[in-house]
Amino acid sequence: MELEERLNDVRSHIAAAEQRGGRPEGSVQLVAVSKTFDADAIRPALQAGQRIFGENRVQESQGKWPGLKSEMADIELHLIGPLQSNKAAEAVALFDVIETVDREKIAHVLADEMKRQAKAPRLYVQVNTGLEPQKAGIAPDDTVEFVALCRDQLGLPIEGLMCIPPADENPGPHFALLAKLARDCGVAKLSMGMSGDYETAIAFGATTVRVGSAIFGAR
Ligand SMILES: *Cc1c(COP(=O)(O)O)cnc(C)c1O
Repeated sequence: MELEERLNDVRSHIAAAEQRGGRPEGSVQLVAVSKTFDADAIRPALQAGQRIFGENRVQESQGKWPGLKSEMADIELHLIGPLQSNKAAEAVALFDVIETVDREKIAHVLADEMKRQAKAPRLYVQVNTGLEPQKAGIAPDDTVEFVALCRDQLGLPIEGLMCIPPADENPGPHFALLAKLARDCGVAKLSMGMSGDYETAIAFGATTVRVGSAIFGAR
């Protein structure tokens, strides 16, 4: 299958899941996760009309996205991987959305950097719904307080919550927990669901799904 076919396949599965969930058509945003793929592999997705992309490494993104952004208007780039403080300046400069605000230190660094650059990427707080020690994210019990700190004390534009459920568990309860936390925090957006479970995530209220291998092929 060609990339365009795989992309259209994902789009139609999203549309069907929206319909099943009684959600308005087009209400779920597709982030095409292009990590590990180079600019030549990404161009067919641009040609097929995809404009929203996700990357998990700042440095890798700097190698391909400034060029692609100059070729094509309206690209929206999401950072979906962990952000180190020493990469915050580059991340604020390049990304339109940073989905991985996951600790107080990075929240402070982002607030300073956004002021310095007078640039405000939209932000999501990453929640470690499975409390996995190797995974980034705020603990569910600390999420409401952390979002309040980010928004009210630091003035950060927190739009939503993001999670990556444990690989070996049924993701449904994790999606449900993220949706509940978003209501508790008063944020509207939910970034959840990947190639294997984006339809389930939509059933639980995802507003953004992050799909990589189903579009670009195996990494
Ligand atoms: C790689 C990645 C994805 C996409 O995963 P696929 O299974 O390839 O769809 C989504 N979210 C995050 C945070 C990722 O790192």
